[in-house]
Amino acid sequence: MIKNADYKMARQCLLDIVVPVSQERVRISCCGGRVLAEDLVAAENIPPFDRSPYDGYSFRAMDVAGASKETPVTLQVLEEIPAGAVPTVTVTAGTAVKILTGAPIPQGADAVIPFEKTQFTESTVTIFGPVKSGSNIVRTGEDVRQGQVLIRAGQIIDAGSAGTLASQGVVEPVVYRRPRVGILSTGSELVEAGEIPGPGKIRNSNRHTLEAAVMSAGCEPVYLGLAGDTTEGIASRMVQGWEICDLVISTGGVSVGDYDLTPDAMEMAGATLMIQRLTMKPGMACAFGAREGKLICALSGNPSSSLTTFYAVVLPVLRKLAGWQDPIPQEIDMVIPSGFGKKSRETRFLRGTLDLSGGCVKLITPKEQGNVVLSSTIGCNAMAIVPAGTDKVEPGTVLKGFVL
Ligand code: AMP
Ligand code: MG
Repeated sequence: MIKNADYKMARQCLLDIVVPVSQERVRISCCGGRVLAEDLVAAENIPPFDRSPYDGYSFRAMDVAGASKETPVTLQVLEEIPAGAVPTVTVTAGTAVKILTGAPIPQGADAVIPFEKTQFTESTVTIFGPVKSGSNIVRTGEDVRQGQVLIRAGQIIDAGSAGTLASQGVVEPVVYRRPRVGILSTGSELVEAGEIPGPGKIRNSNRHTLEAAVMSAGCEPVYLGLAGDTTEGIASRMVQGWEICDLVISTGGVSVGDYDLTPDAMEMAGATLMIQRLTMKPGMACAFGAREGKLICALSGNPSSSLTTFYAVVLPVLRKLAGWQDPIPQEIDMVIPSGFGKKSRETRFLRGTLDLSGGCVKLITPKEQGNVVLSSTIGCNAMAIVPAGTDKVEPGTVLKGFVL
């Protein structure tokens, strides 16, 4: 068991344990946000035939090689090819077809001219200058070539990939199942949000904070209920959680007080305790364990502490569970316009909102960064990392950070 682990080390240790959940076929209309479980290799060329990008005329470039304003060339129009139709004629010397956007180029023709650049009648088209062979033709496979890998397994199905799957006729791609993530709230002071707290009681907010965070990570939250501060009560809900979930997150009871029973409960429930406490703020109090390959991430009860540890350590683990190819967020430089007034003995995470005005990445940090203040996490979409041992962060300092 490692005490006081660095968050990156803890993250890696958990990433080494989790394996992606099983796979299933899901109708493409319901796939947005799911993670693709197999490479999409193009079975078909797109476009599948040479086609016209314009409404115009298609003909042989050599027929108009000598055309000019003074000596225009008039071609006989053999037929009209609307989109969705196929040509029935071959274009020969002195002839053309009227062609509409998306229609196949007829045999014999090797160029298209938009109709605005011509003069035309029902049966003729007049062209006033040379047109290069190949002009205005979208070639077979110009967008996608048969055999090309279009999407790698482990990618999120976004708008572009949903359309790309459909364009290849894949209507039920293999995706990862949505991981089921158990959420257990511990603390004898808690009542559910819909109840009126009696004396000494508070509403359970962590449940809902984590449910929302878990859903944003593409996982399905499964609420495991409230456990009071008893080792048995916490342990029995953890065991239930492992039975029906892929991973369990608890909050509360991980500090070092008399009623901080979560680590004991983890062991009672059969988990091996792997990590206790991280060298980070907020979110230092936490514990991580595993039982038969399933993780328990025990986070602090303090609302913004648990959310910080969630983003720094648990979110990448959920992403790997969900099948992501690259679960660790990329670090980017961000300016901290208002700085941070305190020394940071441990690694400190500053929460904030990205501001991209002026072409530079700034993190607008609420003044209140404490571990009990949940309201200052509202709207936060990124975190900056203050390295351990940093004195005050002066306004305008550039720090590494990541997008949530
Ligand atoms: P603990 O981690 O159990 O020491 O709790 C730290 C602080 O967080 C205490 O003030 C708790 O009352 C509060 N807390 C614990 N769990 C929750 C929760 N689910 N929702 C809101 N506050 C909580
Ligand atoms: Mg407690």
